[in-house]
Amino acid sequence: MNTEKVIIIGSGPAGYTAAIYAARAQLTPLLFEGQRLGGQPGGQLMLTTDVENFPGFPDGLLGPEMMEKFKKQAERFGTRIVSEDVLSVDFSSQPFVVNTSSASYTTQAVIITTGAGALWLGVPGETQYQGHGVSACATCDGFFFKGKHVLVVGGGDAAMEEATFLTRFASKVTVLVRKDVLRASKIMQERAEHDPKIDFVWNTEVTEIIGDGTRMTGVRVLNNNTNTQSEIAADGLFVAIGHKPNSNIFKGQIELDQKGYIVVKPGTSATSVDGVFVGGDVADYRYRQAVTAAGTGCMAALDAEKWLASRE
Ligand code: NDP
Repeated sequence: MNTEKVIIIGSGPAGYTAAIYAARAQLTPLLFEGQRLGGQPGGQLMLTTDVENFPGFPDGLLGPEMMEKFKKQAERFGTRIVSEDVLSVDFSSQPFVVNTSSASYTTQAVIITTGAGALWLGVPGETQYQGHGVSACATCDGFFFKGKHVLVVGGGDAAMEEATFLTRFASKVTVLVRKDVLRASKIMQERAEHDPKIDFVWNTEVTEIIGDGTRMTGVRVLNNNTNTQSEIAADGLFVAIGHKPNSNIFKGQIELDQKGYIVVKPGTSATSVDGVFVGGDVADYRYRQAVTAAGTGCMAALDAEKWLASRE
């Protein structure tokens, strides 16, 4: 078995940026683009419509289109891409081992860029009606709710973005907020609040998703101010309450924080294991932007390159 110089796990902005830098440093990186980690190859941007804040694209571009460009650029410099999920790793000794369902790979260095995925409410009915009214991605599923009444849960930027996007299809969008204030940025709040199709229900927690056995028909909610329960009829529910890092396969191999984010040495991309580096949302609960993911992916490739050179 050939030992790779560097394996990159994950194919969002962090992974592809790491690949561009590692490939240009002649490290011929092997990148696992994944199928399930982070939802799908390309990461969360595959679930996004317009990206308007990535510098260099003054007219904006679509998330999937942007990831296609990242991928092309990584391939142009010799990145080899494997369309498989990494199922387990062994970082206990050199060379490190990376396993997929079909093969094992050995490598000197690893760059983890597995990203993060949506959080769910964890209430009865949620799993049952996923894909039958319940979703965490308006850009993926909004189209199915033409002329319908949909609910959005959450009070952050993601919830405002989902609600605003859904007005393209839905006749009415009701945002359920558990507090009496939003956490979203002013500009996103105002956009949603001024939209005639969007209304807000405050101090409201979803306790159950109800349906007819085939599709959801509404939700049961608790007003945490008055402590009263009620039902809201709706055709769909979009959960937009935040994300969790895709770090399960690294448990026990590398230091994670309480929420599962990979712990980095401040100011670097180094992890608790010498030779394992990290970039993007799997180590970042704060910024979570395409441009910051790309930036930390670049850091990881530069750190890996330096680390490999120091071993020669
Ligand atoms: P946030 O963590 O910012 O917000 C999560 C929201 O969900 C909060 O309002 C929170 O309520 C609520 N929430 C959490 N758990 C529950 C629950 N169990 N039931 C009901 N409500 C719940 O996450 P986002 O995904 O919105 O945003 C993450 C980051 O990504 C932010 O930095 C954001 O700015 C950024 N972002 C930027 C966008 C853009 O600029 N285009 C678009 C989307 C995201 P509470 O306030 O009570 O805790």
